[in-house]
Amino acid sequence: MKARVVYLSHGGGPLPLLGDALHAHMVKFLKQLGTTLPRPKAIVVVSAHWEEDIPTLTSAAYPPMLYDYYGFPRDAYTISYPASGDPLLAERIAKLLGTAHLDETRGFDHGMYVPLTLLYPDASIPTIQLSLRSSLSAKEHYEMGEALRPLLDEEILFIGSGFSFHNMRQFWKEDDEQNHAFQEFLMDTCTKLKDEEQRKRALLDWESAPFARYCHPREEHLLPLHVCQGLAGEQAQLVFDRPILKRKCVAFLWS
Ligand code: ZN
Repeated sequence: MKARVVYLSHGGGPLPLLGDALHAHMVKFLKQLGTTLPRPKAIVVVSAHWEEDIPTLTSAAYPPMLYDYYGFPRDAYTISYPASGDPLLAERIAKLLGTAHLDETRGFDHGMYVPLTLLYPDASIPTIQLSLRSSLSAKEHYEMGEALRPLLDEEILFIGSGFSFHNMRQFWKEDDEQNHAFQEFLMDTCTKLKDEEQRKRALLDWESAPFARYCHPREEHLLPLHVCQGLAGEQAQLVFDRPILKRKCVAFLWS
């Protein structure tokens, strides 16, 4: 496959771009990743911060910025990431998905521009966003990924932009067993299992994993992983395994 697929943890709001020390590992990782991956012709971001009834794609030629957070310093509202869109690719993806919407007005949210600013600071690669489904069904998100497999032969970077730990009330607590156990489950499932059917079953049944609901009281930051795994259809490589804020988080690459 020429495409690359990455599931990453995008940190807390705009903090990774504001010099926050608790995001230092993540910032270093993404800057490095941007220089080691082959430069793609287009990027598709599945962001945890966009949910729609049916899958929806940004289709503007130049989507605006969407500052989808509150209560941060003024600098957080002047961040600019002027990547162009890719309306034709959005249309092709909509067709592959069968039922999908194109949204010409929706802008880039921080699930897109936080990691992309670190990966590709020059903002010169056409990028589109694909929403989650508000059903939050693990199966539907895995199948969204499967439907996009015809694009694996193209030089596209697919990014599942979420957070492998996302319990807002527990981010500043020191490491605990629950956090570790669930990250182990993700690593075992995505990077160690050999059988793809087994991997799919484990991901669809993620709620049975240890401390699943403690780590994801709501699963919108996990589901971009289901899209990535459904798309890649093979074992991932573990490329990040460090704390963000105070929690152990992981990132996976399929290449
Ligand atoms: Zn987030």
